[in-house]
Amino acid sequence: MPRPIHARIHPGAVQHNLEVVRQRAPDSRVWAVVKANAYGHGIEHIYPALQAADGIALLDLDEAVRVRQLGWKKPVLLLEGIFNHADAKTADEFGLTVAVHCDEQLQLIEAARPGRPIDIYLKMNSGMNRLGFLPDAYRQAWERASASAGVGTVSLMSHFANADEGALDWQLNRFDEATRGIPGQRSLSNSAAVLWHKRAHRDWVRPGVVLYGASPSGRATDIADVPLRASMSLTSAIIGTQTLQAGETVGYARSYKAERKMRIGVVACGYADGYPRHAPGGTPISVDGILTRTVGRVSMDMITVDLTPCSEARIGSQVELWGNQVKIDDVAYASSTIGYELMCGLARRVPVTVA
Ligand SMILES: *Cc1c(COP(=O)(O)O)cnc(C)c1O
Repeated sequence: MPRPIHARIHPGAVQHNLEVVRQRAPDSRVWAVVKANAYGHGIEHIYPALQAADGIALLDLDEAVRVRQLGWKKPVLLLEGIFNHADAKTADEFGLTVAVHCDEQLQLIEAARPGRPIDIYLKMNSGMNRLGFLPDAYRQAWERASASAGVGTVSLMSHFANADEGALDWQLNRFDEATRGIPGQRSLSNSAAVLWHKRAHRDWVRPGVVLYGASPSGRATDIADVPLRASMSLTSAIIGTQTLQAGETVGYARSYKAERKMRIGVVACGYADGYPRHAPGGTPISVDGILTRTVGRVSMDMITVDLTPCSEARIGSQVELWGNQVKIDDVAYASSTIGYELMCGLARRVPVTVA
């Protein structure tokens, strides 16, 4: 028998969350961001939920091709653009829209002599200091791109560094100044800007993590007023129980010590399944629908939970690691990370079902 752990993907939740994005940004078109295999969900699994999106944005060329092979006719955007000549050829063949963040990428497009001009998203480095043309160099880059025979429409794009923390005007103002008078569609907003910065919505928004029901800030409380639904649940079962006497310890490094006699449960889920090893004792988890906490270290294949509030729990009891009841953001926060990382880190060995 396989281990009882498995992940459920809920395309209905993604579809619902996409509607929430639409309500938040009613005047913008929506790039549904599905990079990293749809934030660990599996592009194929959530693809049916994306039909109302205006475009699909991702990073890997093979994912872009998969999306086309699934039948997607609307735009597909490569968020980091192309890396070599073969990529440019593939972008041409599959009608992909590509980000262009440097002159080298523009040259790759020109050298490919595409059959149809390739639509591009010309990226500005407005302060993130990862990819893009600096504001001072942007207008010239736009002129070169617009004059290029291989290039179709040129859209204007940038990415925010701290849209989840408050002010983004420092970047937005740079972008607006440097692009004043330049024609073309604008795209700036990630999930955080979709939720919290209407001024930045512009022509196309690019939500990722909110489509999967998690918080762009990493804090569940920040999205308490947004009716998002979790699109991934990770569940397993109790496979053993122990009764500890006061003073006994649990697991590696004996990091948890029972203060009194108590019952604990052993859950078939560990860091090799994608559960964060850094989750400290006290991380929320539910057993048979009752909220409780982990105790002791996360090991490769198992974690241990306090069964004090769950007196009926026994071998076979259902456990939710994250999902509808236990928020992925809360597990992530306890573990000093963000929901994004937990979704993307779901391990291959975990069986996935679509529900
Ligand atoms: C990942 C990504 C997004 C989506 O970010 P979220 O925070 O998940 O909404 C948007 N734009 C770019 C360029 C990205 O790389």
